[in-house]
Amino acid sequence: MALIVHKYGGTSMGSTERIKNVARRVAKWHDAGHQIIVVPSAMSGETNRLIGLAKEVMGQPDPRELDMIAATGEQVSVGLLSMALLAIGKKAISYAGWQVPIKTDSAFNKARIQSIDDVKVRRDLDAGKIVIIAGFQGVDVDGNIATLGRGGSDTSAVAVAVAMQASECLIFTDVDGVYTTDPRVVPEARRLKTVTFEEMLELASLGSKVLQIRSVEFAGNYRMPTRVLSSLTDPMIPLEIEANSGTLISFEEDTHMEQAVISGIAFSRDEAKITVLGVPDKPGIAYQILGPIADANIEVDMIIQNQSVEGKTDFTFTVLRNDHAKAMDVLNKSVKAHIGAASIVGDTKVSKVSVVGVGMRSHVGIASQMFRTLSEEGINIQMISTSEIKISVLIDEKYMELAVRALHKTFNLENA
Ligand code: ADP
Ligand code: ASP
Ligand code: MG
Repeated sequence: MALIVHKYGGTSMGSTERIKNVARRVAKWHDAGHQIIVVPSAMSGETNRLIGLAKEVMGQPDPRELDMIAATGEQVSVGLLSMALLAIGKKAISYAGWQVPIKTDSAFNKARIQSIDDVKVRRDLDAGKIVIIAGFQGVDVDGNIATLGRGGSDTSAVAVAVAMQASECLIFTDVDGVYTTDPRVVPEARRLKTVTFEEMLELASLGSKVLQIRSVEFAGNYRMPTRVLSSLTDPMIPLEIEANSGTLISFEEDTHMEQAVISGIAFSRDEAKITVLGVPDKPGIAYQILGPIADANIEVDMIIQNQSVEGKTDFTFTVLRNDHAKAMDVLNKSVKAHIGAASIVGDTKVSKVSVVGVGMRSHVGIASQMFRTLSEEGINIQMISTSEIKISVLIDEKYMELAVRALHKTFNLENA
C-alpha cells in the first residue's frame, strides 16, 4: 500500500461526465489498496471566465479580490469530485486550501506555498477516505485566500505529495506525457518516456505549459517521483499499465531524454521587448533602469546592452507581455528623465523559442545549427540568451511556429 497524489487538470475535470470518469479512475487506485489524495483544477475555461467577470467590473482587478473570485473554480471541482466518489460508494471528503490549511505568503495571484498541515488529511486517509484538496489556492497569515498563478494546481499537487511524504505524484492531463515540443504546434512531436528534472525545469520556465515551473522545483528539491500521464484513457485501464505510462521526471544526472543532444523545444508567445535608447554609458545604468522594474514586481528575462558610441548606448530587455504596459509606465515616469535617456520604445509582437538538452554540455555546434536553420527560414534573431543546457532566441511572433517546426526537424526530434 502506498500513498499517492493524483492531479487532474481542467480538461480532465471539464464536464460532469469527465468528473465521473476521474472518480472511477481514482476508485480503481483506492480499490488496489492505495491511499489517495486528489488535487483537481477548476473545470476547463472556468478560471478564464472568473477572471473575465472580474475584469468587467474593474479593468485592473484588485489582486486580493481577484483571488477571492478565481479560487471558487477549484472549490466547485472538489465538491463535484467528492460527490462523484460518494455516488459510487467510496468514502471521500473535499477541502478548500484554507481548510487543510495550505499556508502561503500574501503575494496575491502568484503566492508561494509556505507549509501544509497534514493532520486532518492523515486522519481522513487512515479512516479510509479519499481526500480531495483544491488546487491553485491557499491561505495567508491573515486568512486571505491567495492563488498560486496560472497552472498552479500542478504546484499544489506536488507540494501536497511532498508534505504528506507520498511515494508518487501523478499529474493526469489531456496529453499522454511530456513531448519534444507542444504537440498542438508540431503534430510529429514525440512523447518522452523520461525527462531529467533539469530539462523539465528549463522547458517549464521557457514556456512549456504542461507543468507549472514551481511544481518542477518542488519535485526536484524534494526528489518527489512525478509522472505526467493521460486522463483521457479508459478509466478502467489496468493499473499496472497506467502506473508505467506517460513521462517520468528522472533525477539521474547522466541519463537524459533518450540520449538525444536536444531533448525538447519550448516557446513563449507572450513576450515583449523594451529598448531604452541613448543612455549615457556609465556605471550604475543597468541598476537605474532595472531597479525600478524589479521594485514594481516585474520579472525581466533577456537583457542586452549595446556597444557604446560617443558615450551613449542602448539598453534592451524583455518582460512578459502582460507586464509591458506597466514596465513602460515605470520607465517613462521615473527612469527616463532621471538617467537622461533619449527615448523608450516597446515591441509587444515578439516571441521566444528555446532548445533544451543536457546533451549540449558535451556537444558543440548546437547554437550554430540553430542559427543556420533560422536563417534558412529567413527568420531574424533579435536577442539570444544561453545557459549550459539551453539556447533561447527572441524573434518576431509571426515566425514562432515556423521556427519551432524547423528546429524540431533540424534536431531530428521526431525520430530520435
Ligand atoms: P491541465 O489543464 O491538465 O493542467 P495544461 O493545458 O495546463 O493541462 O497542460 C497540458 C497542455 O500542455 C497540452 O495540452 C499541450 O498542448 C501543452 N504542452 C506544451 N508543451 C508541451 C510538451 N512539451 N509536451 C506536452 N504538452 C505540452
Ligand atoms: N485553474 C487554474 C488555472 O486555470 C489552476 C490550474 O488549472 O492549474 O490556471
Ligand atoms: Mg496546467
